[in-house]
Amino acid sequence: MKTLVLGAGIIGISTAWHLAERGHEVIVVDRQPDAALETSFANAAQISVSYCEPWANRHAPAKLVKWMFRNDAPLLFRPRLDWQQWRWGLAFLAQCNDAAFERNVQQLVALGAYSHAALKDVVAATGIAYHRLERGIAHFYTDQKAFDDAAVAAGLMQEFGVDRKVVGRDELLAIEPAFRNFDRIVGGTYTASDESGDARVFTQKLAQLCAARGVRFLFGHDVERLEKVGGAIDAVQVRDRATGRVQRLHASNVVVACGSYSAPLLRQVGVDLPIYPGKGYSATFKLKKPADAPFVSSIDDEVKVAMSRLGDELRVAGTIEVSGYDATLDSRLSQDRCRMLAERIEKVLPGVCDTRLPEEGGDPRFWSGLRPATPTNIPYIGRTQVAGLWVNAGHGTLGWTHGAGSGKAMAELISGRTPRMNFRFHGFEPAKGGFAADAELSLR
Ligand SMILES: Cc1cc2nc3c(=O)[nH]c(=O)nc-3n(C[C@H](O)[C@H](O)[C@H](O)COP(=O)(O)OP(=O)(O)OC[C@H]3O[C@@H](n4cnc5c(N)ncnc54)[C@H](O)[C@@H]3O)c2cc1C
Repeated sequence: MKTLVLGAGIIGISTAWHLAERGHEVIVVDRQPDAALETSFANAAQISVSYCEPWANRHAPAKLVKWMFRNDAPLLFRPRLDWQQWRWGLAFLAQCNDAAFERNVQQLVALGAYSHAALKDVVAATGIAYHRLERGIAHFYTDQKAFDDAAVAAGLMQEFGVDRKVVGRDELLAIEPAFRNFDRIVGGTYTASDESGDARVFTQKLAQLCAARGVRFLFGHDVERLEKVGGAIDAVQVRDRATGRVQRLHASNVVVACGSYSAPLLRQVGVDLPIYPGKGYSATFKLKKPADAPFVSSIDDEVKVAMSRLGDELRVAGTIEVSGYDATLDSRLSQDRCRMLAERIEKVLPGVCDTRLPEEGGDPRFWSGLRPATPTNIPYIGRTQVAGLWVNAGHGTLGWTHGAGSGKAMAELISGRTPRMNFRFHGFEPAKGGFAADAELSLR
């Protein structure tokens, strides 16, 4: 069966890999010249099954108001004349309560656990190397009240089967001594089973392996239009960026995995999903003192910034800005946010990285990407009301963590099988008795 996969980020490439493994004929289309050149390019590198709490919680509305005018705010909503942004914001507010939070965490943990197993299987089968570190993820706190609250959050995660433990300052420094010179740390939490690695390297290598097993790639092609006839997908119109040549591609199945751009594409055929860009930033610094740099991937709670070691570099990333599709680094706000990453890392790990800005003779690689954010932080994986049209998008802050499993689950669904996880697939509903791992799914 022929399947078109639109988008060659971590989600599209994982989908293509798992479809090819199940004997499908696959064509991947992407506007970029290679895989993983947009949001999957330089993220925080965390495989974060346990640190998966969505941004929408009962404290978020007050924080959003407090942070609205601060350029260094971890979560920034800058209102625009954009109905989609307002609609997304209202849906986000509707998730800011304890019941929704717990429901969303359950789904994110289920997808995370399934995905982690899928990632390990792919790595074992392919031997892909991507600066993987299986050293866990630590979350450290500088504020006593926030640290006390962390124990409550850890308790909730333990109820969902996540082994997140609360550690005092000394225990945290025994787990990761690199933070010993940052005396403001009061304690942290730690999950040994989490890990880290470079999403871009992994995705590009997996794309090469896809090509080697027969997947065709149309790089440098814009997906311009989805066309339906009656209630079914009929064609996908693409344009070659180099020559301008237009083609109409046909296939039994079409998977939209275009990250934040999935929403406007799907709306062309009446599929309306609340996926909106959440801009984030990263900086990649050369290590000056590799022996003093952390191996344990970490989250700095005060500024909500994550850091992961990737070989002889440190990737530092964070913050989310709900303000449209601009992924450039040109604005004053973007420059402030990049500078904040450099200044913070110098405080937490003094002298360990070369954090000098370009104007000071340094060579940091700053980057920004648009997280395909949903109000729940749960992605849409499943089928649409248009026959033959599938969606695998909306992975928000966790697309690298959920990539391998989202691709595998999509391939299972297209192959007519039920993925073995307790997850609410889009366009399907569970059999009576809830989402048991073996539950039969039926079309809504
Ligand atoms: C700062 C930051 C830090 C992050 N840290 C982490 C982390 O530590 N752990 C984690 O799990 N996740 C993290 N994420 C989230 C993760 O990176 C994303 O969820 C993930 O990359 C989304 O993958 P995707 O394949 O859906 O999108 P993308 O990687 O953006 O892929 C979509 C593809 O579609 C293509 N495309 C789009 N529109 C068109 C079109 N019209 N025609 C042709 N091609 C098109 C694009 O070129 C792109 O290649 C982070 C994100 C950011 C921004």
